[in-house]
Amino acid sequence: SVVVTGATGQLGRLVVQHLLEGGLPADQVVAAARRPEGFADGVRTAVIDYDDPASLEAAFAGAETVLLISGNEVGKRVAQHGRVIDAAKAAGVRRVVYTSAPHADTTSLVLAPEHKATEELLTASGLAWTVLRNNWYTENYVGAVEQARSTGVLLTSTGDGRIASATRDDFAAGAAAVLLGGDHDGRTYELSGDVAWSFDELAEAASTVLGVPVVAQQVSSDEHRAILVDAGLDEGTAGFVATLDADIRRGDLADATADLRTLIGRPTTLLVDGLRAALRA
Ligand code: NDP
Repeated sequence: SVVVTGATGQLGRLVVQHLLEGGLPADQVVAAARRPEGFADGVRTAVIDYDDPASLEAAFAGAETVLLISGNEVGKRVAQHGRVIDAAKAAGVRRVVYTSAPHADTTSLVLAPEHKATEELLTASGLAWTVLRNNWYTENYVGAVEQARSTGVLLTSTGDGRIASATRDDFAAGAAAVLLGGDHDGRTYELSGDVAWSFDELAEAASTVLGVPVVAQQVSSDEHRAILVDAGLDEGTAGFVATLDADIRRGDLADATADLRTLIGRPTTLLVDGLRAALRA
């Protein structure tokens, strides 16, 4: 069987769907999270907490593969992911597949160190492993696009930096492809959209889906932080947003590869189509 952690999350739910659509019998799918609810008939569920090793070992018993979807508690994740890997070993799991970040081992991306450390734990574990280095979700920008409906502006300090995003559904389909077949052991995939876009292109796509003019307004990192604080964000969050934009400006998310389209056997979802679908949802 295949255990999907983070199965109640926005990515995990889609992975479970793709596993079923791909032909994995429902009783071979284990949807694991702290409160696993609302899954299709026959899908097994397991209550796990990354902070509770016993819950992990119990959930993994008898499984062939664990998909470890990275957690969302930034700062705690290396310890949490380490517990998942240890439990997988203790439970006799053959393979762990992990969702990481683009070029996690070499990038300056502020979020990467926890992913790099997790990859190192995984490759040293003695388990079979596959690393899925996911670029940004297109859906990350839906809130900004919605705001632009009234302001006409997408504020950014990304400069000419590009983002090779794909939709969560594309990444979920990629993960399911790795889980369902082929030999992916010992492979690290750089999963991204087919196209890396700039904020000017995001503004163009936003104009198309909203039907109102939208422009990208470029500011410096310091200006960006100050504007966000004026708008009511706390210093920490504003600084984090500006830091991520600076990472993007330097090109940390710009690498558009063929890895995802190859795994899913079709082009990735265009920016404009991904935004349109998310705005409808
Ligand atoms: P979500 O926040 O929607 O889902 C996170 C999942 O992790 C939930 O199912 C949650 O389960 C589970 N989880 C968190 N903490 C624990 C814990 N202590 N024990 C057990 N389960 C836990 O994120 P997404 O699905 O959107 O994205 C998946 C991951 O991708 C994120 O967690 C993050 O690491 C990363 N990410 C990537 C982005 C990108 O653009 N590439 C953007 C944002 C995040 P529960 O129901 O128990 O809370």
